[in-house]
Amino acid sequence: MHNIASLQRQFFNTHATRDVKYRRAALKKLRTALKEWEPRICEALQQDLGKCATETYMTEIGMVLSSLNHTLSSLRSWSKPRRKYTPLAQFPSVSRVVPEPYGVALIMSPWNYPVLLCLDPLVAALSAGNCCVLKPSSMTPATSAVLAEMLGSLYPKEYVHVVLGGRESTGVLLEQKFDYIFFTGSPAVGHIIMEAAARNLTPVTLELGGKSPCIVDATANIRVAARRVAFGKILNAGQTCVAPDYLFIHHSVKDAFVEAYRTAVHEMLGAAPLENEEYTHIINRRHFERLMGLMADAQPLVGGKGDATTLRIEPTVLDGVTPESASMQQEIFGPILPILTWDAWEEVEQFVLSRPRPLASYLFSTDSANKKRFTQHLSFGGGCINDTIIHLAVHGLPFGGIGDSGMGSYHGKAGFDTFTHYKSVLSKANWLDLPFRYHPYSKFAERILRFFLR
Ligand code: NAD
Repeated sequence: MHNIASLQRQFFNTHATRDVKYRRAALKKLRTALKEWEPRICEALQQDLGKCATETYMTEIGMVLSSLNHTLSSLRSWSKPRRKYTPLAQFPSVSRVVPEPYGVALIMSPWNYPVLLCLDPLVAALSAGNCCVLKPSSMTPATSAVLAEMLGSLYPKEYVHVVLGGRESTGVLLEQKFDYIFFTGSPAVGHIIMEAAARNLTPVTLELGGKSPCIVDATANIRVAARRVAFGKILNAGQTCVAPDYLFIHHSVKDAFVEAYRTAVHEMLGAAPLENEEYTHIINRRHFERLMGLMADAQPLVGGKGDATTLRIEPTVLDGVTPESASMQQEIFGPILPILTWDAWEEVEQFVLSRPRPLASYLFSTDSANKKRFTQHLSFGGGCINDTIIHLAVHGLPFGGIGDSGMGSYHGKAGFDTFTHYKSVLSKANWLDLPFRYHPYSKFAERILRFFLR
């Protein structure tokens, strides 16, 4: 672990990973392994998060398989050098942009989707031809161990290596020089990572989090909106970076929304969500207590109870919330939805724009003027109109934050681009060597220069 970056760099310098065939073979290996290891992965996620097999497939394994298939079908085209226009002044030459891998990448992932958020960046990094050190979260020990075992059985450690452990391991890794750092996690740790990267001038992608607003106007289809917001809060028990964090709803439809939300939760999880075996639990006791604490200064209109033995918390809607309430002071990262109301669209813009720029934003509306304002006036990483979360399942949409919610992006081609340096190469012929740029300068040469450079 202490010299893993230099070990991988030696291997990288053999140029083996520059061969697209090598990269494709590595990705195909991962695709086969994911199918073989699915039962072990499901078991580990059940142990770490109480995640049921269907949700594990939908949000982790299936997403990585889909990303692998998309990448495998496009990789030959993405990896080709592209010819660019060369101005006449540079005649006779050809200009090309040549994609090249950065080298050795460090990928650090969080606990909430421990398979997807570790393997999806890995797919991007390997497709671009990098070697990779992966540092999964120590808060999902069973899943991280399965990932280490699976990847260890697929690749030599000089190509892909998983480092387990907590902060000490991260510290040892961050002392080494990587060629790229891809970090997914909290804004607080994002600061630490960027500082460490700056010491080696290592480029970073930071996939962070924050409070993602969910705006509902008076024209929204309330039944559909409630179901789709509930989906976003129930999935992984709201422990999703792009989960709708709080509801900002037009006052005229608030009561109808709360009723529809109650019905939606009942339809999805039954009358007793705390006993539903398919409903994911909160990661640990510390987060369970943090979340229960967020309800203390507000009134639950839906849900509100938690079970400390199973670590499940009911999908909850909180009323009596102000911007000063506990639930509005931090990213919730759980199944609790505080409600705030508005009267005029200007209030929405004022409220959202005066806060850190979110990773995601959602609007439920059938009004084209509001849809346009949402898209053009608000600043956020990505989002949906009339849905939640699912924008991240579209390969063509780069996924990433802005401002406090991160920098850089991935998914599909954006992932390949993130782990690729686009090297510009001009190749000139020798049969013509015009004298104008060389000393000694003359009036005639200057006239020629002025003709071409304008
Ligand atoms: P975290 O920042 O605590 O941990 C992320 C990674 O950093 C883990 O691998 C962890 O071991 C490591 N780490 C933790 N403390 C560290 C320290 N002091 N020094 C060095 N490394 C350290 O995040 P988390 O609690 O695992 O995840 C929750 C956060 O991640 C939320 O803010 C959420 O919004 C965000 N998130 C973002 C995305 C995204 O794609 N943008 C996805 C999932 C989660």
